[in-house]
Amino acid sequence: MRTRSDMRGRGGALPSPNAFLCGHCSRTVPGEAPGTQHRNHCPHCLWSLHVDLRTGDRRSGCHGRMEPVGVAVRYDGDWALLHRCQSCGLIRMNRIAGDDNPLALLSLAVRPLSKPPFPMDQLPRLIPGTEEVRP
Ligand SMILES: [Zn+2]
Ligand SMILES: [Zn+2]
Repeated sequence: MRTRSDMRGRGGALPSPNAFLCGHCSRTVPGEAPGTQHRNHCPHCLWSLHVDLRTGDRRSGCHGRMEPVGVAVRYDGDWALLHRCQSCGLIRMNRIAGDDNPLALLSLAVRPLSKPPFPMDQLPRLIPGTEEVRP
């Protein structure tokens, strides 16, 4: 048991007391999240756990894993993550944190473009002035 009082706290090399292992990617998640009061998802894989009824209260009995399914832009311009609980289906919006993996965020943001629900080759016909010139 670590009882020494000289352990460095914020910003130190040691993991913070609230650090935990991500249930999805199994990497260590620091307890503190820069830019937000409540760490609510893994900064590496962006998965979350359904533990809150209201943000930060840890009062939900669900404890399902929450998949990151999208990115939204908040009213203040910040990005938020949309999480969907795999157990109960709840969708929740969570602020991103300063240490979230930018690549993971970007790949989530462009995911709809990689799977359009309509044929992309039809698009030019919808844009005025771009009709194909047929011989
Ligand atoms: Zn993770
Ligand atoms: Zn749930």
